[in-house]
Amino acid sequence: MGKKHPITVAYGDGIGPEIMKATLHILQEAGAELEIETIEIGEKAYLAGHLTGIEEKSWDSLRRTKVFLKAPITTPQGGGYVSLNVTIRTSLGLYANVRPCVSYAPFIKTNHPKMDVVIVRENEEDLYVGIEYRQTPDVATATKLNSRGGSERIIRYAFEYAQTFNRKKVTCFTKDNILKLTDGLFHQIFDEISKEYPAIENEHWIVDIGSAKLANSPENFDLIVMPNLYGDINSDIAGQITGSIGLIGSANIGVNGAMFEAIHGSAPKRAGQDIANPSALLLSAVYMLVHIHQPDVASRIHNAWLKTLEEGIHTYDIYSEGVSQRKVGTKEFADEVIKRLGQEPNVLKSVDYASQKGYKEVKHKERTHLTSSMRELMGVDLYVYSHEKIETLAARCEQLNTPSLSLTTIFNRGVTLWPKGFRESNCVDQWRCRFLRNGSINLHSIAALMHRFADGGLEVVKTENLYTYNGKPGYSQAT
Ligand code: NAD
Repeated sequence: MGKKHPITVAYGDGIGPEIMKATLHILQEAGAELEIETIEIGEKAYLAGHLTGIEEKSWDSLRRTKVFLKAPITTPQGGGYVSLNVTIRTSLGLYANVRPCVSYAPFIKTNHPKMDVVIVRENEEDLYVGIEYRQTPDVATATKLNSRGGSERIIRYAFEYAQTFNRKKVTCFTKDNILKLTDGLFHQIFDEISKEYPAIENEHWIVDIGSAKLANSPENFDLIVMPNLYGDINSDIAGQITGSIGLIGSANIGVNGAMFEAIHGSAPKRAGQDIANPSALLLSAVYMLVHIHQPDVASRIHNAWLKTLEEGIHTYDIYSEGVSQRKVGTKEFADEVIKRLGQEPNVLKSVDYASQKGYKEVKHKERTHLTSSMRELMGVDLYVYSHEKIETLAARCEQLNTPSLSLTTIFNRGVTLWPKGFRESNCVDQWRCRFLRNGSINLHSIAALMHRFADGGLEVVKTENLYTYNGKPGYSQAT
């Protein structure tokens, strides 16, 4: 007997308790060495007044074990509740969301019989930083934040994962033809890091056509790494087209811990009927066993599960006449997997995690810090709330020029309107007024300009300083 590994388990809501019991039963019968601590999360915790869906004391367990096997939970509607997943992800620094999406043809119906794609989604940044403002009555904005460090970490993780699990190609999806700085940074770092892994093929697709290709011909992809939002959308698409989201497990890997969960929700309508498919949670538990260095048990379970699918023993969600042999409930499905422990699939590809290095901690190199001498303040964009005509607004702004900062451009949404531009464009009540320097400036120069705006009765709702980095503008240009 090896040393038992402490893990934290949450049974969740809806079908959660049933699929968790089934999963833990299989883990126990397969010989997983686990010391389980159970915590309460989800609906009960929310309704007891914990807005994040988790009690304070449960954090102690998560901090101690650093490994979390989580069943799906129900998020009550309304009431200002915060997503538990977002809370756990940010608290434990779970930067990588990994979802292997595999089809099991001919045993489970799918239009994509050759699909075997891993989606690696950045989990902490991008639009999901949740920084939103309603700046004017007409305009709400969200911040898309991509950092160099965050991008490096997820992209390196993707290549390390590919190397560990014998994936031949890493694809990157971004929208850097439009988002030149944020997605441009992600793409640039992808190009830099891919050079360190010459044995792995790499390619980049613009996310729109890339997603279309993924939905249409997933067999052309091996591993895809993406910023958060594109990863969120594409990992559900990739999961669904394998045949059922009830088959997709996930690993959330971080610097301070890891969380393993099914991608589906708590399916409240199916709760308490012993019919839910435990496969997604079971596969998540398999990834957990690899993570905690119990690869043999992981392989035993995964192979027995494949054999069960192959023999047509299916829960209702994957059952189809003429393909499946027997429709079973949650408990019976688990019993059938247990009966097959030690067996391997005949047709489907068996797994052998012990021959692989397993998820390893990805050490990333010292980050490249740009020194201040390479960063130069060029001016400022002032966002102004106004209903005035562009000519009137421009004339008022020009009067507020200071000796060191002059109005050069006015934009509305993304469109350049002054001094030249399409006046026919639909305008909103938020204007971006760009002031560029005449000589050297500092933060006091910007403060002085803002004083003049306040005195002049123009309401600035937001400012963005404009910097160049090694002479290259770190801000979008007027068109
Ligand atoms: P859902 O994933 O729970 O259900 C979608 C559909 O898939 C339903 O028809 C359901 O019956 C079916 N389904 C899902 N898992 C199944 C399984 N294992 N076996 C058989 N059928 C399965 O999505 P939903 O209905 O949109 O959400 C229900 C609740 O789950 C909501 O409160 C939502 O907030 C929550 N949710 C939680 C998580 C999580 O905890 N990670 C993720 C998604 C949704």
